[in-house]
Amino acid sequence: MTDTLIPGIDEAKAAVGRLRLRTQSFIDGEFRDAVGGRRYVTENPATGQPIAEIAEGGPEDVDVAVSAARRAFEAGVWSRMNPGDRKSTLIRWAGLIEANARELGLIETIDAGKPITDTVGLDMPETATCIRWHAEAADKIYGEVAPSPEGTVATIVREPMGVVGAVIPWNYPAQMAAWKLGPALATGNSVVIKPASTTSLSLLRIAELGVEAGIPAGVLNVVTGPGDTVGEAIGRHADIDCVAFTGSTEVGRRFLTYSAESNLKRVLLELGGKSPQIVFSDAADFEHIAANVAMAIFWNMGENCSAGSRLIVHRSVKRRLLEALEAELGRWPVGDPLDPATRIGALISRGHLERVLAYIAVGREEGARVVTGGEQILRESGGYFVPPTVFDGVHNDMRIAREEIFGPVLSVIEFEAEAEAVQIANDTPYGLAASLYTENLNVAHRVARELRAGVVGVNAYSEGDMTTPFGGYKLSGFGGHDKSLHAHEQYTETKTIWINLRPA
Ligand code: NDP
Repeated sequence: MTDTLIPGIDEAKAAVGRLRLRTQSFIDGEFRDAVGGRRYVTENPATGQPIAEIAEGGPEDVDVAVSAARRAFEAGVWSRMNPGDRKSTLIRWAGLIEANARELGLIETIDAGKPITDTVGLDMPETATCIRWHAEAADKIYGEVAPSPEGTVATIVREPMGVVGAVIPWNYPAQMAAWKLGPALATGNSVVIKPASTTSLSLLRIAELGVEAGIPAGVLNVVTGPGDTVGEAIGRHADIDCVAFTGSTEVGRRFLTYSAESNLKRVLLELGGKSPQIVFSDAADFEHIAANVAMAIFWNMGENCSAGSRLIVHRSVKRRLLEALEAELGRWPVGDPLDPATRIGALISRGHLERVLAYIAVGREEGARVVTGGEQILRESGGYFVPPTVFDGVHNDMRIAREEIFGPVLSVIEFEAEAEAVQIANDTPYGLAASLYTENLNVAHRVARELRAGVVGVNAYSEGDMTTPFGGYKLSGFGGHDKSLHAHEQYTETKTIWINLRPA
């Protein structure tokens, strides 16, 4: 039974009062306090009020979790389990996530400020879909037999790496976990994962459901606590074989250092972006394009690594597109994330709110013009709300066009010629995603190939689905991809087995 029905606001508020939150790290199949006994407070970004105290782990908790993960791996309870049984277990887990989507969505909404329609209606179903998709591949990926000389047999097999570490961000706490856990667990690894300290609650419950589904103790461990202690300890741990990170480019760089200075563990980085959305002069359906443009930058409060934060639009259609965008924004109410009518909830924290407002001030100082938004709203709630904000008259050398704001702020930049659009789009240190809108097949194919980005949407804002890889060029990523079968490869080692046969 799935539970993706979005509750009404009164029902949601009543259900929040009944939530039983898991607030300890989840290690070796059980919830545990931090070894040092410390706790920290997590708050609701829509009210600024505390929700719960969470175990504040440190390097010693990472040690305990890694030992449990290694023991489970060596015992073979998961790594050598029949792949079909591993698949069934993970599919059961996906089913439990779906069956508890309402509870998990409520937890995510109060912890991350995300609208309930997104958490219950999208994040949790997508989390389950991701786990299930990777699970289904567990018994369908074959090794190879090499064309070796007569009298020999050479096979090429993929083996789980061992203990995988994962450090994930706060913008999609459950989904980002699933993007790592799905392929890492499906290929037989044990995992030690750290959620962002602002958003640990949903993953703790999801991990508990994993054990209920039959994932053996020690295979999936969640250590809660800050990045500069728990995250760094994962990055530097000598007994972790691979680390997958999603977050800022700055912290991503650190993971390379951690690896270089410890055991040269494999590092998979999915980092920031400053993604362009190009609208050519022949674009026709302005309503459709405006809906996509709004989705690309305002969905999830703009707290999205692939957010289309630069709208690069042909001078001749800019006015019509901005009018259509203004009309579209009438369908993006900002408000209480527990209200199903809300499409834009709260920014993650006071610190992040201040960062976004500081960027808006920078945009004004640089000479860009605010068309809509631009101020904090709903202050009486105690939460951190910023409405959709559109800057016109932006030049690509302005800071608001170059730096990742990670908020609901769109920079509109004009162009005249196709080559100029491509040049502006590629003139960024990032390269995660890009969109382009045209009715001309030649322009679509040509420009899609010219854009230096890992995912290009044509007449769409799309990261694709589970079947396609997600990852970036340049400062947006390094070492691997989330989603698709490519994600399975990165959590496995390649082994050659060469056999000389005895002559008859
Ligand atoms: P971070 O990159 O700091 O956080 C992401 C994860 O890394 C969190 O789990 C965090 O832990 C952890 N972390 C932080 N510092 C370290 C460290 N020294 N060593 C190991 N792990 C660490 O992002 P922020 O939360 O600070 O956000 C800042 C900016 O980063 C955003 O405004 C946005 O531009 C970008 N960002 C991009 C994301 C993406 O999806 N690509 C996601 C999140 C942010 P903890 O939070 O518990 O300290």
